[in-house]
Amino acid sequence: MIRFEGVGKIYPNGYQGLIDINLEIQDGEFVGIIGTSGAGKSTLVRTINGLNDVTSGNLVVNGTDVAKLKGKELRKFRRKVGMIFQSYNLVPRITVLKNVLTAVVPEMSFFKVLFGIFSKEDKIKALEALDRMGILDKAYVRADQLSGGQQQRVSLARTLAQDSDIILADEPVSALDPVTAKEVMDDLKRINEELGRTILINIHHVELALAYASRIIAIKKGKIVYDGPSSEVTQKV
Ligand code: ADP
Ligand code: ADP
Repeated sequence: MIRFEGVGKIYPNGYQGLIDINLEIQDGEFVGIIGTSGAGKSTLVRTINGLNDVTSGNLVVNGTDVAKLKGKELRKFRRKVGMIFQSYNLVPRITVLKNVLTAVVPEMSFFKVLFGIFSKEDKIKALEALDRMGILDKAYVRADQLSGGQQQRVSLARTLAQDSDIILADEPVSALDPVTAKEVMDDLKRINEELGRTILINIHHVELALAYASRIIAIKKGKIVYDGPSSEVTQKV
C-alpha cells in the first residue's frame, strides 16, 4: 500500500512541486496520473521510490517510511518499487539479457553481470521475465538494436525479474507511435491483472489513461484536483 499524508515537496530553488498530497493506493490498483506538462506528475511518482525526497508530511510505502531509507536499504526498497521511463533507460551496448540481469543480481550488479558473475537461477529468472514480455527471442540482441516498444518491454521485464510489487511508469508510452503505445499499455494491464502488481502511470494522453486505468488522479500546480474512478472523469479533462 502507498499512503501520502500531507506530503509536500519544495525544490531547492523554492518551487513547490507538491502541495498537501493525501492519497491511499491499495495493492493491485491501476492508477493513471494525468495533468498538463509541469503539473507535478513526475514529482509525485518519483517520491514513491525515493528518487525525490519529500520535504513535509509522511509517505509510507509497503509499511516503510520512505524518507528514512538510505544506502543499501534504499537500493533494496527500489527493487520492490520498480520504475520505467519514457526513454527506457537501458544500457545500450549490452544484451537485453544482461540488462535484465542487472536488475536481478544484488550489489555491484553492473560489474558482476559484465564479468559473467551470476547464478543459473538469476539467468533463468531474467529469461522468464523476457518470455513473459514476449521478447525472449531478443535475449542476446544488443539493447540499442531494439525498437522503442521492444525496449520498453525490456524495462518492464526488469521490474518483473526483480519482483517489484509496485511498478511506477513515467510517461512510458509518450515516445511511441499510437499502435505500439497501446501494445505497451496492454502489457501493463496484463501485468496488473495476471500478476496483481500495483501500477502507477504518469500519462499526459488522457484518452489512454481513461481506457486503461481504473482510477485517475489529476494534478494541477502540485495539487490533486481529481481522484476517483476513471468512469466518472468529466469531459473537461
Ligand atoms: P510533470 O511530470 O507533470 O510534467 P514535473 O513533476 O516534472 O511535472 O514538474 C513539476 C514542476 O516542478 C514543474 O514546474 C517543474 O519545472 C518543477 N521542477 C521539476 N524538477 C525541478 C527541480 N529539480 N528544481 C526545481 N523545479 C523543478
Ligand atoms: P482549468 O479550469 O484551468 O482547466 P481545472 O482545475 O478545472 O483547470 O482542471 C485542471 C486539470 O485537472 C484538468 O486539465 C484535468 O486534467 C483535471 N481535472 C479537473 N477536474 C477534473 C474532473 N472532474 N475530472 C477529471 N479531471 C479533472
